[in-house]
Amino acid sequence: MSKKPNKEPIQSLKGFHDILPADVPYYDRVGKEVRRVSEYYGFQTIRLPHVENAELFTRTLGETSDIVEKQMYNFRTRGGSSVVLRPEGTASMVRAYVEHGMQSLPQPVSLFYEGSFFRHENPQAGRLREFRQAGIEVLGEKDPIHDTLIIRVLLSALDALGIRDVQVSLNSIGDKASRPHYIKELTAYYRKNIGDLCKDCKRRLKENPMRVLDCKDANCVLLKTHAPQSMNYLSEESKKHFSQVLEHFDEIGISYEIDPWLVRGLDYYNDTVFELFVPAHRADDNVKEVSAMVATASDEEADKDKGVAVEKPATTEHEEDVGGVEEGGMLALGGGGRYDMLASMLFGKTVFGAGGALGIDRVVGEIKRRNLKIRPDVIPKVFLIQIGPTAKRKILRITEDLRKVGIPFAHALGKDALKRQLSIADKMKVPYALIIGQKEAIEERAILRSMETGTQEHVAFEKIPTVLKLKLKA
Ligand code: AMP
Repeated sequence: MSKKPNKEPIQSLKGFHDILPADVPYYDRVGKEVRRVSEYYGFQTIRLPHVENAELFTRTLGETSDIVEKQMYNFRTRGGSSVVLRPEGTASMVRAYVEHGMQSLPQPVSLFYEGSFFRHENPQAGRLREFRQAGIEVLGEKDPIHDTLIIRVLLSALDALGIRDVQVSLNSIGDKASRPHYIKELTAYYRKNIGDLCKDCKRRLKENPMRVLDCKDANCVLLKTHAPQSMNYLSEESKKHFSQVLEHFDEIGISYEIDPWLVRGLDYYNDTVFELFVPAHRADDNVKEVSAMVATASDEEADKDKGVAVEKPATTEHEEDVGGVEEGGMLALGGGGRYDMLASMLFGKTVFGAGGALGIDRVVGEIKRRNLKIRPDVIPKVFLIQIGPTAKRKILRITEDLRKVGIPFAHALGKDALKRQLSIADKMKVPYALIIGQKEAIEERAILRSMETGTQEHVAFEKIPTVLKLKLKA
């Protein structure tokens, strides 16, 4: 008996979004702006692969980090290698730096990257599973100026996009020498209060007590407010480094807040760590939206077992965009820090490094929520209208003439009625329409119509690009 074809509708996976044409200009603009500002500051662009060796991340982010523990998309290749869809960019960047011998270039090497990253996040946090980041890294030098400049660049990019109310949260988690004493005190504090820790944190306390500070559980957040602060345990070198970072901030007039418990849950960080926040707009709405997601989202296990049809997110795209709202109603648009130990975790040698990244999806969400205007790069300037098969054929020639002189056009070549095509041109708010009917096709001259005034004139086919260019200039 033949198997019945499965007619279940196939939809995008939870946390994976189509970026529709109306949104693409926003995404493009954010990526380009971060790149543009970075290039002013001497960063060069690098493109890194989407799939990497799993060990690149297990060795550097920490076996007990949320990402490695439960968020990596890993699989075995046909050849049996264990690989992952990249969950973040910094480890790849350091790998690329060493792999391509960039130590022999003038130092530091300053690189910009942009692209998709993948984390199997719990959807109740409203986070995406494929999200985009634009990031910068400065490799090969330890000068504290770089820590400050990285934040300067990310803030300038946000500023250029119209987002100016950014709060910079800073902390220093110290270097290797600062850690043992701090960890000892932190462990002792949490041991005393172990009854109030969530289940995960009881485990984290044994494996990596600093990660407890990153927990979002309400009780753990409360407990954190009396926890020992890394800043009080800094080695002399770390103290010096951080005080210089702060001096540079003062010098360029960037205000910041010290968050003494900011740790950014990955093993590779040392010394400066930072996050960039904006107030979560319409805080009440966000809380509502987030709690709606909590109420409707399935837990991870149930989520895996469900069929595709029910896996459709119960939230709208806008709702998912509000994920990442921290305690205090702040939304993290970006973060980063220094990672001088990362290379030694991979290659056994030191490569100084610091960097940071903006979450493009969140920045786009903010731009839209604030009604900031983003114009697409290419806006059609003329609408091509044809009536009848001969006109349709002639218009094909004109399309290429227009492209060659750089005049973007729109059309509805599949439609024949004049009224229909004019009404589309009208809706698209195109300044001109070029109309070719049977008569115009034979005479090889089109009617050029100003969509604003309705005035029309005849233009010979070969003159169309020049005439249109002049009119558009005017
Ligand atoms: P991280 O790599 O975790 O330091 O994240 C840097 C920035 O990327 C965050 O501040 C967010 O803006 C963004 N981001 C991180 N994870 C996600 C996610 N799952 N969905 C959407 N944006 C994210």
